[in-house]
Amino acid sequence: MTSRHAHLLAPLDLGFTQLKNRVIMGSMHTGLEDRFYHYNKLAAYFAERARGGVGLIVTGGISPSRQAWLMPFGGTLNSILDLPNHRKLTRAVHQEDGKILMQILHPGRYGYQPFLKSASAIKSPISKFKPRAMTEADVEQTICDYVRCAKLAQKAGYDGVEIMGSEGYLLSQFLCLRTNLRTDQWGGPIENRMRLSVEIVRRVRENVGPNFILMYRHSVLDLVEGGNNWEEVVIVAKAIEQAGATIINTGIGWHEARVPTIVTSVPRAAFRSLAGRLRKELSIPVVASNRINMPDEAEDIIASGDADLISMARPFLADPEFVNKVAQGRVDEINTCIACNQACLDHTFSMKRASCLVNPRAAYETELVYRKTQQKKRIAVVGAGPAGLSAATVAAECGHAVSLFEGSDRIGGQFNYAMRIPGKEEFSETLRYFRRRLEVTGVEVHLQRRVTQAELLQQGFDEVIIATGIVPRMPRIDGIDHPKVLSYLDVLKDSAPVGRRVAIIGAGGIGFDVGEFILHDPAVSLPLSLDLWLGEWGVDLVSQTNGGLCAPTPETPQRTVWLCQRKAGRLGTMLGKTSGWVHRATLQRKGVHMLGGVEYVKIDDLGLHILQDGVPRVLEVDTVIVCAGQDSLADLMPSSPLAQGPRFHLIGGAAQATELDAKRAIRQGAELAAGL
Ligand code: FAD
Ligand code: NAP
Ligand code: SF4
Repeated sequence: MTSRHAHLLAPLDLGFTQLKNRVIMGSMHTGLEDRFYHYNKLAAYFAERARGGVGLIVTGGISPSRQAWLMPFGGTLNSILDLPNHRKLTRAVHQEDGKILMQILHPGRYGYQPFLKSASAIKSPISKFKPRAMTEADVEQTICDYVRCAKLAQKAGYDGVEIMGSEGYLLSQFLCLRTNLRTDQWGGPIENRMRLSVEIVRRVRENVGPNFILMYRHSVLDLVEGGNNWEEVVIVAKAIEQAGATIINTGIGWHEARVPTIVTSVPRAAFRSLAGRLRKELSIPVVASNRINMPDEAEDIIASGDADLISMARPFLADPEFVNKVAQGRVDEINTCIACNQACLDHTFSMKRASCLVNPRAAYETELVYRKTQQKKRIAVVGAGPAGLSAATVAAECGHAVSLFEGSDRIGGQFNYAMRIPGKEEFSETLRYFRRRLEVTGVEVHLQRRVTQAELLQQGFDEVIIATGIVPRMPRIDGIDHPKVLSYLDVLKDSAPVGRRVAIIGAGGIGFDVGEFILHDPAVSLPLSLDLWLGEWGVDLVSQTNGGLCAPTPETPQRTVWLCQRKAGRLGTMLGKTSGWVHRATLQRKGVHMLGGVEYVKIDDLGLHILQDGVPRVLEVDTVIVCAGQDSLADLMPSSPLAQGPRFHLIGGAAQATELDAKRAIRQGAELAAGL
């Protein structure tokens, strides 16, 4: 065991049971919990993480009744008929010497089904269904549902339950004046608004006995108008402790909050101080959460006394072996969650199975298997971008002899430019992971090596994987070769000078990113400090009046920017479901002019001449940056299948540039390599 992370790896004695370390895998909805026929897959998913050493696992949210469905037929535990499925999960985790809690979740007005009930009949901005206000009988029934669900969870073999009281779900809806306008014993002062949470904890404890973990997830920062202040946060936490909770987990921000809480641009461990303040008020263990993704921060939080436990959720999608790697001093081998949300939360909010951009096996443990090969092959991979790195490392892990050829002087492809974008610094962790993974799996890496097709044919490879990526597209516009025109690579790769007034052609992911890049003040170092970030978004961590919101103090924009697209309508609609709004809000705050329905006429000394909705306009700019998508680069691919010699495969951007992202590139590489 390393002493560097001694606090994180120390056991925690809860009296009736012991957690083997301070790391909790926080609750995440994968989609597998919603269908009975997916429970074997879910069991394999949890077992892999228990085997990886995590101290305590929390399942995705399970509804205590049908009325509490998150979506029609979503995961529910309300009858003994559900027990066999849940026992698959508890058995699988216990066989790996792990511990698992089941999260009980009532969405209230956040459900995606028409029979919603909440504290008051106030529609949420994130569900199209309006809830009915619960009657007193409904409230009493809800408490009984929680109790029945917790008792069933105990029967199913869970080590405890987590009661979800944050993120804007039902219990938050009762706790805050924003959504609780009741005048009966469940509304009004905080003592009434917290009655539902407290009664649930009290009666669950009464029914499950003392030797069952009862963790309560408590919102310590609502980040919505009409949210609770710090004094109220503490009153609720103390009452929950009194009612019989074993552990208080902390939650940050309602889902409808317009302040990001977990995307890449949120500074690491941004909210740890709140766990620290709450811990001083309580005598039961407190958990810190949100944007903690590496062990050094986690260790520091425990060592400094800010929390007793650390909850990390997405980092366990990215790397099920996280804790074992820490314990064995292999921190540089951790596949770090880059907080992109692309394959996890974006999937969940699109009703698709969650997975992970950097680990396509997540929630596919039984389907994407990296088996040791019986027939070792010689494999060439050309291109060390995300697609090639994924293919090369998986093929080598399966036991093949892999040679990786990269034309430039470094691995990473376009990720080298992505990580230069303010707020995307985490992307460098993926390159650190792959760099180390190439060493561990024994891939032979050839940098600055542009192989020809003839060489690939001559060197006796059995398989050749072409992962040469893309070339930026240069649209045909009169004056496109004017000296004021740059491609995004000129700016991000070659640091070409950019003027004060800039037009960006193309408003895809890269157009938005380039906007953020050129608007950032180079004198301000990245990643942004916590204080600057709190100021940007208007967050008051200290007094927390009004749910923690205060007036923002944004960075002064460095330039005047026009972001253009040909499509009519709002810009950025194809950005990530859970992160796109953050990019849009950032650029809007910095005064970027967003133009849709643009036709590009010409570029000259005056600037960019356009027709916007048919009306001529000149954007008087000194630089035009082209971010107009990409075309595949696949010139090493034989034009027709070869009669003999190696089999050729095409992956990533080289295979298809349209709608390419790293999620597709990495999954494609892994799937191909696992099947060779
Ligand atoms: P590339 O990354 O293009 O890699 C191809 C590699 O092949 C390069 O290293 C190249 O040097 C090498 N190569 C080319 N020809 C040869 C040859 N003949 N011989 C040897 N080597 C060769 N995606 C996301 O999912 N999320 C994001 O947030 C995101 N942000 C981005 C931000 C920016 C600024 C940019 C530029 C891209 C971003 N992307 C993002 C896109 C993502 O980086 C790409 O989808 C991904 O890199 C594609 O991977 P690839 O391996 O197919 O190609
Ligand atoms: P993109 O998302 O396809 O956007 C290309 C942009 O260029 C669009 O705005 C498009 O809109 C415009 N365009 C296309 N052809 C054009 C032409 N001939 N002339 C002028 N404009 C043209 O591609 P990208 O921005 O280059 O990004 C590449 C990939 O990287 C994306 O698929 C994305 O998934 C990924 N990425 C993701 C993120 C993220 O945060 N998730 C960030 C960066 C990149 P019009 O056709 O309407 O003009
Ligand atoms: Fe983290 Fe992105 Fe993977 Fe989600 S998809 S777990 S945010 S790396």
